[in-house]
Amino acid sequence: MLRIINFRVDVKTKDPLEALLVHKFPVLKGQIEQIHVVRRAVDARKKPHITFVYTLFVAVRDEGHIMKRLGRDKNVSTMEPIEPETIVHGEQRLVHRPVVVGFGPAGMLAAFYLAREGYRPIVLERGQDVDQRAKDVEEFWSTGHFKPESNVQFGEGGAGTFSDGKLTTRVTHPRLHEIAKYFVQFGAPEEILYKHKPHVGTDVLRGMVKAMREQIIAWGGDVRFGAKVTNLILEKSQVTGVVVNDTETISTNLVFAGIGHSARDTYEMMYHAGIPMESKPFAVGVRIEHPQAMIDISQYGIEPAELGLGAAEYSVVYHDKETGRTAYSFCMCPGGEVVASASETGHVVTNGMSLYARASGVANSALVVTVGPDDFGTHPLGGVAFQREWEAKAYELGGRDYKAPLQTVGDFLAHQVGTVPVGQPEAPHSYRPGVVAADLHECLPTYVTDVMERALPYFGRRIKGFDEPQICMTGVETRTSSPLRILRDDDRESPTIKGLYPMGEGAGYAGGIMSAALDGAETAIRVMVAYKPLTAQE
Ligand code: FAD
Repeated sequence: MLRIINFRVDVKTKDPLEALLVHKFPVLKGQIEQIHVVRRAVDARKKPHITFVYTLFVAVRDEGHIMKRLGRDKNVSTMEPIEPETIVHGEQRLVHRPVVVGFGPAGMLAAFYLAREGYRPIVLERGQDVDQRAKDVEEFWSTGHFKPESNVQFGEGGAGTFSDGKLTTRVTHPRLHEIAKYFVQFGAPEEILYKHKPHVGTDVLRGMVKAMREQIIAWGGDVRFGAKVTNLILEKSQVTGVVVNDTETISTNLVFAGIGHSARDTYEMMYHAGIPMESKPFAVGVRIEHPQAMIDISQYGIEPAELGLGAAEYSVVYHDKETGRTAYSFCMCPGGEVVASASETGHVVTNGMSLYARASGVANSALVVTVGPDDFGTHPLGGVAFQREWEAKAYELGGRDYKAPLQTVGDFLAHQVGTVPVGQPEAPHSYRPGVVAADLHECLPTYVTDVMERALPYFGRRIKGFDEPQICMTGVETRTSSPLRILRDDDRESPTIKGLYPMGEGAGYAGGIMSAALDGAETAIRVMVAYKPLTAQE
């Protein structure tokens, strides 16, 4: 197999890849058996000449002959395909079925592999199935009627279900490609297998999670909604069961905890049960919105549709010399909307999502600043208290009915409460159930807003129009990553509680859909090494 990197193609070119490869490397004529696009990135640095930059795996007939001719080209090498490690089952008999807590990407992929391998997991998800959840969330967004157990953070598919569905990750692991292939099998577009920054959108994601749930059940698993784990039953430092909704007990010796970063009551329950955990840094700030056309022009120089490209993305970072903190864009959603993402009564939280088409005409991104235990203390739940404090302030500022405080960049920099722009396409804002003009300095720490004030003009020099005075910001964005880490050992087990496997973003081992999915899958696979699959009667 050849690995060809840095293969540049003008975005306007319509010729098939095979012809383009043979044009560049004539020795490949008649030799190509299969082309696999590993990655396709867009390079828009030399506008208006924009190129796709491909990484390709190319299966060829006579590799030796070809490498004699191309061996000196630094962009061409040979490789053996890397397969994920074979899954090994152990010998120990399981007395009870394993329990997976949470049906976000981590829980879903743990359950998926457990079910595929015959371990018949019981999945307990506190929120509702995706159809009911979509209704509850829409009701919240349109009326402000908030449901603490069925919202953007809780329910089938986890936090990412109402998202842009970006499937990028900085993690590299052979199992990721296998997981992405499953996502395609269950409804994701095939392009996620090779695009540099793949995304599926909330609309596609909802269908995918449902299809994966059905597969888990078909393989012998159970998936229960409205089933919150309210306690762990421990005997001599070994998990022996879980309590569901304070009433029902399920016996189990294996608990895979993929609870996400917003299950604060579950964090508290685990803390009081003596499960070791520690506080960790994360970031807080606001959502900022721009006309998508402004971002497109800044990034590509022309309308992306003319190039056959989608709405443009951006990523900006500012390192503040005065404080050592970093301000950065996070979870940027091209052509999307800002969404109300609270998971507790009396709190306002912003986040972003988009549909697959990314066609809303509005670009939004978190604009956040790093915070850490120096700000909120080293108590494991210190970060949770910190998040709650600022989310509650945003709720007060928004008028106590889940409207978000909004401030334009101009008013923010001038420290004044202005007005909410209405009917101005150059000043879009999309948060529902609504916004209230306010001073965002009142719902964020000064050490965060100070850095934001220095970062905004800096970002404006990188992306034209970014810091124009009419641009709107809504707050607060507090759920960038987990505020704590639930400790685990090299076998992914809690160091003090046997049979408890913390995993995914909430435990502090992932950041995003793909890394959480991988962490769930790999945690389950790791545990299988010790245990025999169950029979249908067990
Ligand atoms: P979660 O997805 O949070 O899942 C945890 C699940 O556990 C939840 O469903 C919860 O209800 C359940 N649970 C919690 N406690 C209990 C309990 N006691 N009993 C039973 N069930 C329980 N990431 C990306 O990579 N790309 C994006 O485009 C993207 N956009 C996002 C947009 C939004 C609006 C949000 C909120 C997040 C977004 N993220 C995105 C982040 C991504 O969703 C998370 O990184 C990912 O979902 C983490 O997966 P997880 O399985 O670890 O946790």
